[in-house]
Amino acid sequence: MIRLFTVTGARPQIIKAAAISRAIRSRFSDVMTETIIHTGQHYDEEMSGIFFSELGIPEPVHNLRISEENDPVRTMIRRLSELFRQEKPDVALVYGDTNSTLAGAFAANNCGIPLVHVEAGLRSFNTDMPEEFNRIATDHSSSLLFAPTDTAVANLEKEGIAGAREGERAGVNNPVVCRCGDIMYDNSLHFASLARPLSQLPGMSDLAGKPFFLATVHRNFNADDETRLSSVFRAFARLGEEQHAPVVVPLHPRTRKNISAPLRDEIEQARRKDFVRILPPVGFLDMITLEKNARLVLTDSGGVQKEAYFFRKPCVVLREETEWVEIVRQGCALLSGTGTENILRAARELLERDEFRFAGLFGDGRAAEFICEKMIFHFSPQ
Ligand code: UDP
Repeated sequence: MIRLFTVTGARPQIIKAAAISRAIRSRFSDVMTETIIHTGQHYDEEMSGIFFSELGIPEPVHNLRISEENDPVRTMIRRLSELFRQEKPDVALVYGDTNSTLAGAFAANNCGIPLVHVEAGLRSFNTDMPEEFNRIATDHSSSLLFAPTDTAVANLEKEGIAGAREGERAGVNNPVVCRCGDIMYDNSLHFASLARPLSQLPGMSDLAGKPFFLATVHRNFNADDETRLSSVFRAFARLGEEQHAPVVVPLHPRTRKNISAPLRDEIEQARRKDFVRILPPVGFLDMITLEKNARLVLTDSGGVQKEAYFFRKPCVVLREETEWVEIVRQGCALLSGTGTENILRAARELLERDEFRFAGLFGDGRAAEFICEKMIFHFSPQ
């Protein structure tokens, strides 16, 4: 039996964990047990609790509640290291690029536990993003790296992580890279059939069958900068006005906290005319409903960019660069940055285009099973 410890903490990781937990429960429970750890990075019902309940993820066995600390990464590393030393898992698994990912990677290495990184090899090449450091450090300390795309595999190769020879067991000095597809594609396919219709979504039912846009903004580069945030919301209001279709924004708590009083007044004016609609963060099932029904998506989120693609929606990326370059190359997303006019120009261009090609870039919806099979091959006790 392999004892896998999965480190979660932030919203996107919790959602990603649903795919692998589901695969273990349904196919691999005779060879693998999973213990979920929650660092507490996101801890409230809207950003964490709802996903465990609605996506059927087992409750975390260890809840470290580290959200409020002054130096959360350091505290996470210390507490995770204590836990790993005590529990001695066979393997630790981390997702993505958050502080919890980095802390899990450091702690596993401190304790000599092989590390698995899901979403390995993604690069924005923007070193101002804390996520970029987290990804690189995690990849370089992993034994088994699951890269979702060919570009991710190529990025790892360029950094000298080319992967061990076929048949060799993975280890920190012998890292193995697997191109596996995207577990969020697995999740989007699986949960789409469980999502309720738009007519049942609070604050959205009148939009059933009508055009609207979906937008999210939460990257600290945007959310922590008043000028950029104002510029983005001004674009949303103008888009809503000129297209006679509201821009629906499930608002991340970080962004909400940073909206200044003058910007709040501007948003309130746009809200009264129904150019924008601000919602609290929604659960993943409702997010799928919004993505499936929107005309176009505007976002600085990595996950939402991809989900737009899964649901065949064009996307304006509110950044200067993206890790998901394939979508941009494919012509289904445009990088706009955060200037109001640039966002509007990108949105208009996508709205005027009538043909998009949504080729299968992200696997076959069975990435989680593939990942489990590889973990069993590499980490089963000999
Ligand atoms: N998401 C959600 N509710 C929301 C906004 C986003 O369930 O109100 C989901 C979204 O569908 C995606 C994930 O959260 O699966 C993305 O998380 P986020 O944008 O916070 O992080 P990123 O993907 O940029 O790391």
